[in-house]
Amino acid sequence: MIEYLRHFKVHLYSYGKQVQTIPACFSYLRQNLKRFVHEVELAHEYVKRALEIFFDEIEETLDGTLEIARNSSIKRYLGNVLQTTNNTTLTQALLRLRYYLININNYLNHHKANIIFASSRTDDQPFSYDHDIPLGVTLPNDEGKRVVIMVDNDSVEKQYPLHATLLHEISHIEAGAQDFLFLPGNGNTSDATSILKQFYDAINSGNGEALPYEKTFVKGYENFCNLRPLTPMEFIVRVRADKMLQANIIMDNADCIAQLIVDIGQGRPYTRNDNSTLRRIEELMAALCCRNLQQMFEKVIASRL
Ligand SMILES: [Zn+2]
Repeated sequence: MIEYLRHFKVHLYSYGKQVQTIPACFSYLRQNLKRFVHEVELAHEYVKRALEIFFDEIEETLDGTLEIARNSSIKRYLGNVLQTTNNTTLTQALLRLRYYLININNYLNHHKANIIFASSRTDDQPFSYDHDIPLGVTLPNDEGKRVVIMVDNDSVEKQYPLHATLLHEISHIEAGAQDFLFLPGNGNTSDATSILKQFYDAINSGNGEALPYEKTFVKGYENFCNLRPLTPMEFIVRVRADKMLQANIIMDNADCIAQLIVDIGQGRPYTRNDNSTLRRIEELMAALCCRNLQQMFEKVIASRL
């Protein structure tokens, strides 16, 4: 990423600015700006719609319990995703979903100007796809809460539509979501099925090394359960045995959050599809975590804004 910024001339466009502020040579950004802006609106629409459905179906009573409509589509959806009918697990999952919906909606209501489209495509600098450049980046503890979308890669990475990438990044910056797992990069637009298959494969494979050991999350879990520090192997054993812990990981995983919101916002039912061809888990685990790049990126972007 840092090489990319060093070697290429990059334009950073902040959402809401006039198209004329983009130098004419950045023709790709100029010509596609409407489409990129539309993706931001689409992300917002899905969040708003999902929130509406949530509040239609689920009410919080005065004593803090959730009153869930008998035919609640969201509860049914989450039950299928998490493979559970347990009410405690489902209530926790609903609360996590509500937390992310409210925070992401708040960001899109008030901080859209912090969304930045970065592009390096000009007539002199034709597009060359680099797998190492992530589609989205956020900075840790960034007071400006900036989300940078590398729009040049949009035409290649079809499995990550821009609206889903935005939801993923906003879930990090605004609500502290983690990257445990990424959607498989099989070139197809996914639904939640593929990432969940991925998750269950990861926790049940061999010694479970496929599930990344997320230090902050594990620490929080140790503190919550009052445990001595766990090794990755001990952690995976607990994940396998504990449905609630599985649900927590899924509900705090940025790619899952993005996909749940898109599915629920579109009213798409969850359908299990075990035939989907998935890239090997090892490959997926090697996928670039956008957060690893944050520190490098921070300096560069600070000098440009
Ligand atoms: Zn991420």
